[in-house]
Amino acid sequence: MGNLWDRSCYLQRVYGERLRFVHLIRKLSDQVPQPISKTSAFATVRLFATAVRFGIRTVETILWPQFARLPSPDQPFLPRISYASAPPNPTHSTTPAVIQTSKHHIHGSRPVLAVAYPGVADKLAAVLGTSERVFRNVDLAPYTTFKIGGPADLFVEPRSADELCAVLKVAYSSGIPHFVLGLGANILVGDCGFRGLIIRNRANAISVLDDGTVIAESGVIVFPDLIDVAVAAGLSGLEHYVGIPSTVGGALWQNLHFLSPAPERLRTMFIEEVVLSADVLERDGRRHNVDRDYFNFGYDYSTLHDSEAVVLSASFALENANQQNMRRIMSENLDWRRARHPPLDAEPSAGSIFKKIDGVGAGRLIDQAGLKGTRVGGAEVTRRHANILINRDQATASDVRKLINYIQAVVVEKSGYVLETEIRFVGDFCG
Ligand SMILES: Cc1cc2nc3c(=O)[nH]c(=O)nc-3n(C[C@H](O)[C@H](O)[C@H](O)COP(=O)(O)OP(=O)(O)OC[C@H]3O[C@@H](n4cnc5c(N)ncnc54)[C@H](O)[C@@H]3O)c2cc1C
Repeated sequence: MGNLWDRSCYLQRVYGERLRFVHLIRKLSDQVPQPISKTSAFATVRLFATAVRFGIRTVETILWPQFARLPSPDQPFLPRISYASAPPNPTHSTTPAVIQTSKHHIHGSRPVLAVAYPGVADKLAAVLGTSERVFRNVDLAPYTTFKIGGPADLFVEPRSADELCAVLKVAYSSGIPHFVLGLGANILVGDCGFRGLIIRNRANAISVLDDGTVIAESGVIVFPDLIDVAVAAGLSGLEHYVGIPSTVGGALWQNLHFLSPAPERLRTMFIEEVVLSADVLERDGRRHNVDRDYFNFGYDYSTLHDSEAVVLSASFALENANQQNMRRIMSENLDWRRARHPPLDAEPSAGSIFKKIDGVGAGRLIDQAGLKGTRVGGAEVTRRHANILINRDQATASDVRKLINYIQAVVVEKSGYVLETEIRFVGDFCG
């Protein structure tokens, strides 16, 4: 039990959702029928075990509906969303469900209250040299590729690694909740925004050394900015990631990846392959240079997921290569993306929503469940790629979360596979 509790505490830290966890446990204990039956006892144990394995969000979003139906196992399975008509019939993939939710109901039912943090704003103004770069109540939707999300109480844009470091130190010393934002390409921001400080990283200096090392501050945009500089200098290693929206910091956080060049496309390439070192600020205020091993890179993973360390800049070891060949790779990769992915400007998204399942494919499971085209409010599973949800029509974060819940529930019911989300949920989801 000790291990179980330790793991649970760890999960709380990882997701930063202690209250959500306590709430879930209360919900679970309230719902266990009294006297406890063999079936419900087994189900409860299974739920806790699964909570430990997959994390709180997965339990709440996928397994809770199953648990809720336990008292009457014969009842048809219904996920926790309201339907305009009948739920979609997964066998008819050409007739998507349209699940209605009232738009903007969240802001109407629960006002978003900005918190002042007076002392913090002054300290931020001091390190940035002016109060005119400290903003209050900033709508975050435009700063994400999903174009979804409510306001942040405080918002700053550091323009260099040193400014980023100084701003973070203010956040650490004042204890204000904060979040380092890159291009917002791998996150969903809640409809009620973020209670605290959003640090939108715009540290954007790039330098190229004689030995082929490229040093980039962490707010540098990978494409076009970093890739264009590297390719213009005849340096290869980053061109594979053309067309992917990311800052350098976000790329290291997630270990940016794409397929190796056409026509073979033999394997997945990761940005870790060219990471040499990085300048990192730890939560205790220590700024130090680390090598690639520090990041413990994996698929969609780096150690940054489990710490509050922030990358200030990174250096990449690139190799001399033929520019024409690099441009061919870039052009083929851009064509590949255009053919398979929804265009970000017309159909905003956060890329793949669910983590890869080796040898199976999250997108394939969603497709096989007939969920392409399914809608909740303004959020839709795009027909181009089943693992991508788009903001079709003024979607709210609540729409997206409900659609995610629904997909997870249908896929686990139909295939037995548990889909885990790849994107990070940021801020206040209003309940
Ligand atoms: C259309 C589309 C296609 C995509 N295709 C791919 C793809 O092919 N391959 C792929 O790997 N990904 C893909 N993605 C996902 C996304 O592009 C990457 O995850 C990207 O690295 C996110 O970078 P970002 O700067 O937007 O980070 P954000 O989304 O802003 O932040 C993501 C996380 O990184 C953290 N972070 C940001 N900067 C720092 C820093 N300096 N130090 C520490 N932590 C930091 C944030 O705090 C947050 O936790 C795609 C996304 C979209 C929208």
